[in-house]
Amino acid sequence: MEVNTLVGPEEIKREDYLVRATAEDGRILAFVARSTELVEEARRLHNTSPTATAALGRVLTAAALMGASLKERQSLTLRVVGDGPLRAIVATARGGAVRGYVGEPQVDLPLNAAGKLDVGAAVGKGVLYVTKDLGLREPYNGSVPLVSGEIGKDLAYYFAKSEQTPSAVALGVLVGPAGAVKAAGGYLVQLLPGAGDGMAARLEENVQATGPVSRLVSRACTPEDILAALLDGFDVQIHERHFFRFACDCSRERVREILLALGPEELEKLLAEQGGAEATCAFCNQVYRFGEGELAELVALSRRPEH
Ligand SMILES: [Zn+2]
Repeated sequence: MEVNTLVGPEEIKREDYLVRATAEDGRILAFVARSTELVEEARRLHNTSPTATAALGRVLTAAALMGASLKERQSLTLRVVGDGPLRAIVATARGGAVRGYVGEPQVDLPLNAAGKLDVGAAVGKGVLYVTKDLGLREPYNGSVPLVSGEIGKDLAYYFAKSEQTPSAVALGVLVGPAGAVKAAGGYLVQLLPGAGDGMAARLEENVQATGPVSRLVSRACTPEDILAALLDGFDVQIHERHFFRFACDCSRERVREILLALGPEELEKLLAEQGGAEATCAFCNQVYRFGEGELAELVALSRRPEH
């Protein structure tokens, strides 16, 4: 068992992480995450309603799980675009940095018939897009129609349809009465070539017996505990503990480059009409302001052919 030994028990108690494991000589691949801090940070930054928190939290958790198989400098983006009131949910994972946003963060809906936050209705019908930037010339793009809008089922459908990999996916966010995130987590268990029907049946039974993932996290179960329940009866090897958190890589320098790319005419128009420029990062809501002097400098710079 190889696990990261640089962190002590306190970090493991407090910070979000996932475990990557295999079972039955690599015929089963499993990722189990606790994502409470990630989802709570997203809620705080975007001031999301409970329904939007649950929807965004599930997509963020999915990105963290799927991003764990990527190598350094590779990234993964999930986009859930539906005709429901949330409009679109976007999440990106690169290394241990995960970030995301939802189109209409304040949209809230009544609980569904099961007494749960109605993510399916808030997302509506639409498409799930998966983009993997693996550092090749063209990124990988896959998409499937949404089957439920509940995200977990949609991802399972994506894996079956686009990657021909039967998968059990669960994503859960528990929102407290005051709107803060009490618990969030998820898992992705995949049957790889060589896994027989017996393994699939056993996994299905384990998934049923394990129950909702957010409830387990709220009862202080660790990703290792949840993994043990999911892969009960299998010969399991844990390979890695992967820490992640909400982090955005936007910067003033990047916004400056985007402004510069607008060209002198557009920049002069901004200068004349608004006396400056303001840009807000969709992912983290950081506001970047460029005053009159700075914008005038950018106009001058954009007139130079070599910039
Ligand atoms: Zn940002």
